[in-house]
Amino acid sequence: MATLRQKALMKVQGRPKVAAVAPSLKISDYFGSQVFGLKEMQETLASPVFKKVSTAIEKGTKIDMSTADEVATAVKSWALGKGATHYTHWFQPLTGSTAEKHDTFFDAMSGMEKFKGSALVQQEPDASSFPSGGIRTTFEARGYTAWDPSSPIFIFDQTLCIPTIFVSFTGEALDFKTPLIRSTESINNAAVDICQYFDRNVKKVTPSLGVEQEYFVIDRALYATRPDLVMAGRTVFGHNPARGQQLDDHYFGSIPSRVKEYMKDFEIEALKLGIPVSTRHNEVAPGQFEVAPLFEDINKATDHNLLLMDVMEKVAEKHGLKVLFHEKPFAGLNGSGKHNNWSLITDTGVNLFQPSNSARENLQFLCFLVATIKAVYKNADLLRASIASAGNDFRLGANEAPPAIISIFLGSTLTGILDELEKNGNIKIEKGDNMYMKLGISKIPEIILDNTDRNRTSPFAFTGNKFEFRAVGSSANPAGPMTALNVIVADVLKELKKDIDKEIDSGKEKKLAIVDVLRKYIKESKKIRFEGDGYSEEWEKEAEKRGLSNLKSTAESLDVLLSKQVTDLYKRHNVLNEKELHARHEIRLENYVMKVQIESRVMGDLALNHIIPTAILYQNKLIVNANGLKGLGLDHRAAIDTIEEISKHIEALKSNVSNMTEARKRVNKVEDITEKAKLYSSDVKDAYFDKIRYAVDKLELVVDDEYWPLVKYREMLFLK
Ligand code: ADP
Ligand code: MG
Repeated sequence: MATLRQKALMKVQGRPKVAAVAPSLKISDYFGSQVFGLKEMQETLASPVFKKVSTAIEKGTKIDMSTADEVATAVKSWALGKGATHYTHWFQPLTGSTAEKHDTFFDAMSGMEKFKGSALVQQEPDASSFPSGGIRTTFEARGYTAWDPSSPIFIFDQTLCIPTIFVSFTGEALDFKTPLIRSTESINNAAVDICQYFDRNVKKVTPSLGVEQEYFVIDRALYATRPDLVMAGRTVFGHNPARGQQLDDHYFGSIPSRVKEYMKDFEIEALKLGIPVSTRHNEVAPGQFEVAPLFEDINKATDHNLLLMDVMEKVAEKHGLKVLFHEKPFAGLNGSGKHNNWSLITDTGVNLFQPSNSARENLQFLCFLVATIKAVYKNADLLRASIASAGNDFRLGANEAPPAIISIFLGSTLTGILDELEKNGNIKIEKGDNMYMKLGISKIPEIILDNTDRNRTSPFAFTGNKFEFRAVGSSANPAGPMTALNVIVADVLKELKKDIDKEIDSGKEKKLAIVDVLRKYIKESKKIRFEGDGYSEEWEKEAEKRGLSNLKSTAESLDVLLSKQVTDLYKRHNVLNEKELHARHEIRLENYVMKVQIESRVMGDLALNHIIPTAILYQNKLIVNANGLKGLGLDHRAAIDTIEEISKHIEALKSNVSNMTEARKRVNKVEDITEKAKLYSSDVKDAYFDKIRYAVDKLELVVDDEYWPLVKYREMLFLK
């Protein structure tokens, strides 16, 4: 009888390729066709109503109920015209993905399709099952979602989706979007203040975000046969294929044709939703790929990233594929990240991280650059915590992965400029001197963009006109790390402004005051800068000497969220109060515990129910064989050796699985969640996962391929 694995492999053989069909050859014909954006509003709303809404979007002001009613009516007829039957508030609870609860437009009482302003503006999802870290139980039983007009309404799967925030009735944030929006305001205020030194026309600064999304794709039938992938999102067992990524031939190689059709197809759907997907390519590991849209304002870009992941999941079904967003689905191969490209852009159209031909603008550029460096230096642990998750632990800080040390890469040009600035600390600049020349900052221009060296090993790199936070995990909601980044930079920009003004007040010329403060900041935060190989062992040692943190696991890294430094920081910027932070801390630890618990159970089940029985079956066959050889008076040592080897691994498996189960029982009794998470990390995961995996992967090499129950790496990773 064929095993599940063999049946699945046959299914893959016979699977037809699904071709992607675009509605038109020209993307402009269908880009944003499923979005109720400004253009659609302008076309369908009376002009005073449109004016109110666009002001609300721009300035974040409140929309009154009569305006909301008008918008609701317009959006309803637009949506019905596009075939939508339902509507939902679309929000981002702390579970990580997005949530929705669909209501039909059809009102049976009146026999008509209905949609009122009140339904657009606010809803009360029955949300008691969303994590709140105790907030809802202690304060208010209910939470509500409220329309975020700054992110456009769209239709997905015949459902009108209204992007919303999710808060408790007492106003505490229960989602990712609320603090992101608050942090955007905070950095806007702080950045505008700094811009005033250089250009009084700047009234608004918006963080922008471009998300490079990495992912793996495997055949859906193969996915279905791996309980570990289904339950935990990653393979807990599997020996490396003979050909992994050593050859480096997958990267930028030609895309396998089934995957190419899949990519084209999800891009079409994404483009209809107004997601400006622009690049696609293979990634380093076999079966790994990347998609990146053009950058947008941070709130929209975040919504679009989450929506894109949804779209990718749905479209994959049609192609008989499964997309994996886990940070490390396959041991021994590259993990998947979500590079968050971040910059600050003014309403006058200037990217504040873009060096220019004008020396004056370069001084402004240096303010933002140096402030960011200092912010990362001061708050490296918070940034580390912002990317911590059970999945990302396998990608950062594990034995085969880069360390979890936060550092900044600037490239040689900028490093030279900052070193120069620091070194020339004592240059006396007289009035009338060309200060920019003397400090070497008149020549930042052109050099940089064409000259950005690439350092792929840095967790946080300056890449010409933006910072790239690369340590973010592929499955993460970008809002978490981006909120942290906005807040820490806002905080240092505020400090910078205060320090500069103090110098100016004491009689220093403005430019000199700025340069002096920057010099001080450069010196203070130098330790966070690292240009070398971030994956090397020397760096771990060097970082330790520098006093930089190397927090290897989620359990260790989240404590900082309760520190005075972080609670004060988030409070100062009205982003999260102490209660909200505590709740988040708790939810993330609970989530971590749950994930490790599931993995541990899956491992135990697979080992006991799949691996050991198979190994014994094969061993019995070998015993018969050995006896036969012996009966014939032939040499049967080879068979005996293999029998013994199998026994050894089975013994190891049995005892480790049973000890792990005991450990889990012990740890489950621990009440304190911080303690529990730490114990899950050390006493369950670190103590047993590798040992159990080692035995299983060895058995995979020994046991007859015919018998092996789990689809192997080489079968999953090389799609045609
Ligand atoms: P790579 O890092 O692979 O060289 P790109 O330069 O193409 O990639 O950019 C990667 C991502 O960064 C894209 O989503 C792009 O739109 C985005 N990006 C480019 N400029 C900015 C910017 N000023 N702010 C934020 N994101 C940006
Ligand atoms: Mg990049």
